[in-house]
Amino acid sequence: MPPTHRSPVSTDKKLKNSFDTLYKTYTKPEFLDSDPLFLCYLYESAEDREFVGLLSALFAYGNVTAIRGFLSRLLEPMGKRPKEYLLKHGTKIWTSKLGPYRFQKEKDILLFLQGLRLSYLELEKSGESFLESWFSPLDKNEFGLEKRISGFQSRFSEVLGSLDPSWKSYGLGFLIGIGNPKSAHKRYCMFLRWMVRKEGPDLGLYKSIHSSELLFPLDTHINRLSNILGITERRTSDFKKSREVTDYFQKFYPEDPLRMDFALCRLGILRKCKSAYVKELCESCDLKDVCKIYGSKRRKVGTATEN
Ligand code: SF4
Repeated sequence: MPPTHRSPVSTDKKLKNSFDTLYKTYTKPEFLDSDPLFLCYLYESAEDREFVGLLSALFAYGNVTAIRGFLSRLLEPMGKRPKEYLLKHGTKIWTSKLGPYRFQKEKDILLFLQGLRLSYLELEKSGESFLESWFSPLDKNEFGLEKRISGFQSRFSEVLGSLDPSWKSYGLGFLIGIGNPKSAHKRYCMFLRWMVRKEGPDLGLYKSIHSSELLFPLDTHINRLSNILGITERRTSDFKKSREVTDYFQKFYPEDPLRMDFALCRLGILRKCKSAYVKELCESCDLKDVCKIYGSKRRKVGTATEN
């Protein structure tokens, strides 16, 4: 006898098929330039890619055009080897020329760069080329991505304190993400996805962090989609929501829960989903079978036809 209701197994299979289809549609190099990660690919060495990745991720708040304009202003004077440039020459070139970026005054940005320079020089002494080891919990008995992130923030704050004991301005605190214990740490989660995942478009530069530890960067698109796909009821964009979205995808991809992140974001970034039924978009959407908006539209149409 055929089953009278969909079993959880068949529902999960259907969901996974939809996600796998969306993954194939959008996880392609041709969509890379719609993402802040694209800037890393303009540089050849892994070290420059990490450096540029951290800048692109931490300044990735606000309007995309403004972010891109600011990052080109910052990176262009450093040429093809920006990290080497910073280590050799420091920040003199930008003094009174760079200007502010949203919450950061020029002074905050220059201090941030000087802190980064000093951090790299410190790490070089122990033969390390990346910031990776600073993304570890301060207490060895603790674990989890949030502890890795706070480990980096504490170590970096210490460096800033050594450069300027009164470094804690609002702009610099915001830039390095301190002060909100419930924060989803979107910008760090995004940076760590780029550095850790081995599969394209990510860079796979960090070897000591496993992709199963990563957490979803809750940008505006994932925030919205996770609600309309029924992944979470939570509206607040906080750490708890990022955990819920990650746990959901971990069921389908236990070793790599962020596998769908790039593809899901394309739906929003490329304006393929308006969070409302739009015939031209929804009828060809890979997620229509799992979307609450599409489901309710179909039920309404069904009811109208029956009447
Ligand atoms: S079916 Fe429509 S509303 Fe639902 S995710 Fe796709 S494009 Fe967005």
